Amino acid sequence: MNDQFIPQMEPWFGEEEKLALVDYMNENGWLTEFKKTTKFEEMISEYTGAKHCIVTNNGTISLTLAALASGITAGDEVIVPNYTQIATPNSIKMFGANPVFVDVEPETLCMNIDLAKKAITSKTKAIMIVTANGRYPQSGIEQFVELCNSHELVLIEDAAQSLGSKYPDGRHQGSVGLIGSFSFSTPKVISTGQGGALITNSDEIASKLRKLKDFGRSAGGTDIHDSIGYNFKFTELQACIGIEQMKKLEWRVNRKKEILRLYKMNLMGVSQIKFFQQDLVNTTPWFIDVLADDRNRLIEYLKDHGIGSRVMYPPINKQAAYNLPGEYAVSNLVGKKGLWLPSAVQLTDENINLIADSIRKFYQHNA
Ligand SMILES: *Cc1c(COP(=O)(O)O)cnc(C)c1O
Repeated sequence: MNDQFIPQMEPWFGEEEKLALVDYMNENGWLTEFKKTTKFEEMISEYTGAKHCIVTNNGTISLTLAALASGITAGDEVIVPNYTQIATPNSIKMFGANPVFVDVEPETLCMNIDLAKKAITSKTKAIMIVTANGRYPQSGIEQFVELCNSHELVLIEDAAQSLGSKYPDGRHQGSVGLIGSFSFSTPKVISTGQGGALITNSDEIASKLRKLKDFGRSAGGTDIHDSIGYNFKFTELQACIGIEQMKKLEWRVNRKKEILRLYKMNLMGVSQIKFFQQDLVNTTPWFIDVLADDRNRLIEYLKDHGIGSRVMYPPINKQAAYNLPGEYAVSNLVGKKGLWLPSAVQLTDENINLIADSIRKFYQHNA
């Protein structure tokens, strides 16, 4: 048993974030969105190669704004994966649009394009793809672009888990569809406590998004409104932290990749644990996700040995919030066996060895 509990996830803030906040407060700032926010947005634009970045207060509202800016309204259908964080469908449910669930690919947990095709109706207005754990669909993102183009659908990328992950052609995830969305909630690749960001290459969409998050103001600071908007703005405090987090992103990206390599090496030959397909050249595993035999007992065993883990998202159609009929084989399997192992960037190599040893022992004793 290790002395210190190893959590499944832990945010990672350090002296840099603390000093940035103190410096900012010493300048007697207004806290509302200003220069620090602009700088943070510029850093994300530059990193992702997108022309515009607009930050919002979280990665759920960012999806809602993406849908509204794309012209999606109440009664429209949006195709979403049945395996995702529930924010994906809820973001459009919020204004009365209807999520239509399709299953995901077993290797990548990203939307299955053939099933997406079959789900298109005369009411479909968009596909919201989720780049699950930084992965991209095996069918390729271009297939989704073509499918959307041929049916006049909007492609929105929920890239909440994908900062630091690219498609094989070098484009950053989130930058291929009309709009891409990121989350900076506590467990995500970088965090500002809460926070979200939208990226787009369209000037028109960028301007719509800026108005939507700021009361529909026709220009900053005025009370002249030419469209309906709300208040989903960021704060300078979050931006101060976000800027420091962005500076450490490259290190994080490399460490996350190393962590997955170490897990795979250490768990080689453990047939009860299956890893998904992860392209470590182009993508960054946000969490270490596996399918584990006898999952619920493994969770208990690990907990007794000071190791945290977390059940992966259950199939959304079976959540009481939706309670829709249908069997989705891959989402069902993840609901039964999906497990997130400790995934914080602070994990040491020794931690990973210990976790792998515990998993081996569990299966040896329970074979
Ligand atoms: C985290 C997450 C969200 C929600 O982001 P918040 O910032 O927590 O609102 C949306 N979609 C996916 C895929 C996520 O992982």
